[in-house]
Amino acid sequence: MPVALVGAGPGDPGLLTVRGAQLLAAADVVFYDSLAEASLLDLAPATAERRFVGKRPGAPMPQDEINALLVEHGRAGRRVVRLKGGDPFVFGRGGEEAEALAAAGVPFEVVPGVTSAVAVPAYAGIPVTHRGLATSFTVVTGHSRHAVDAETDWESLARAGGTIVVLMGVAHRAEIAARLMAGGLAPETPVAAVHWGTRPDQTTTRTTLVALEHAMLEPPAVIVIGPVAGLDLGWYERRPLFGRRVVVTRAREQAADVVTRLRDLGADVVELPVIGIAEPGDGGAALRAAGARLATYDWVVFTSANAVTALLASVRDTRAFGSARVAAVGTRTAEVLASHGVVADLVPERFVAEGLLDVWPDGAGTVLVPRAASAREVLPDGLRARGWQVDVVEAYRTVPVRPPAPQLAKVGGADAVMFSSSSTVKHFLAVSERVPPVVACIGPVTAHAAEAAGLHVDVVAEEHTMAALVDALARRLGG
Ligand code: SAH
Repeated sequence: MPVALVGAGPGDPGLLTVRGAQLLAAADVVFYDSLAEASLLDLAPATAERRFVGKRPGAPMPQDEINALLVEHGRAGRRVVRLKGGDPFVFGRGGEEAEALAAAGVPFEVVPGVTSAVAVPAYAGIPVTHRGLATSFTVVTGHSRHAVDAETDWESLARAGGTIVVLMGVAHRAEIAARLMAGGLAPETPVAAVHWGTRPDQTTTRTTLVALEHAMLEPPAVIVIGPVAGLDLGWYERRPLFGRRVVVTRAREQAADVVTRLRDLGADVVELPVIGIAEPGDGGAALRAAGARLATYDWVVFTSANAVTALLASVRDTRAFGSARVAAVGTRTAEVLASHGVVADLVPERFVAEGLLDVWPDGAGTVLVPRAASAREVLPDGLRARGWQVDVVEAYRTVPVRPPAPQLAKVGGADAVMFSSSSTVKHFLAVSERVPPVVACIGPVTAHAAEAAGLHVDVVAEEHTMAALVDALARRLGG
């Protein structure tokens, strides 16, 4: 197995390459440092070892030690991914790691990454080359005093005339600006400094060469110098939820869609799963028994996507339904059914139990309701009152989960929290002392639970889906 030196991109996890994702998914061990986006580590198998080899305050791991680790694990035949911010060969010391591997005879592969030198300006709306403004760009480090003073010929760069992109240049920005002006660059040359580019906390500071010294800047930043820095084709910082932090309390396995939707709108999403999905109290025995006699029911009613997944996992395939008809409360539930090849016969317009009762056909017969252990009785009671014989079977349990401490800490600065069920409200309040200013609930039942717990509910989705809830929240926060 070659050791893979993989570029992680500048921050936005979407900027990892396809090859990088493939290698991460197959890794036995991942060596990462502080610039690599943390969520990328989730792409590695749960069993993979994750080792931080970056700079801790005061105690950077020496490059020799990192090289030795790569050689050792590569020799042992493990699938090694060395994940590095941006591109591994752009100021990433990837070249030194490759040299060490080559010298030791350990095969390696290099997966280029999207470098911050180009991507971070792009996320700030700055093209590094532009017709009429710049026909070249130079990427230069401002890291060490030696590099600034002796290694880089700033005066020649100034005369060369293209865009100058400085990485690691915050600390020495005054000297850099002075040298470039000494080389002939006009004091009013536009400058843009982008801090934590491509991430939800990106900030862009626009200034001029002469004022760069006094601009309030924090590392890490990419500093762009030249006429293109005067362009503002901003898009990333202009998305409707940019700068807004939203807490999603759903179970991890259910949160992916809503998290993507929020991030696409620019939100800084805090995934705070306060509930998890667990198997039923009886280990699924009742569910399997119901699955075995599925075809004997006139109707099977699903009130959640989880119930669909659980029931279908307990039967061989969808032929088990026989001629039973299928009802789904909610478009998401219907979608998950459809993904298994089952088209719901009945989907009420209102996505609550009461909505299903409104449209339930007359007659009598048998109904199976696979659902969560702690669900409301409205639906079974209502159907029984109409003369139907109802079997309620526990398909899964929602169990409280303690979210990771760093995630909990982020609730403090959040603008909004989203609740998708009464149990998310209850368990959120059990783990968090702080409640963000805006509370958004998927529907009236959840909103009622939140109000009963003393919260003020600001947003309730009109259609009771997570998609509609995100839209409603975006209108509220974005306006
Ligand atoms: N190999 C990396 C660069 C590593 S040097 C790449 O190709 O991007 C580290 C420097 O890169 C930082 O000091 C900063 O100047 C820049 N940088 C990396 N990611 C950044 C980000 N998300 N926002 C701003 N600057 C970033």
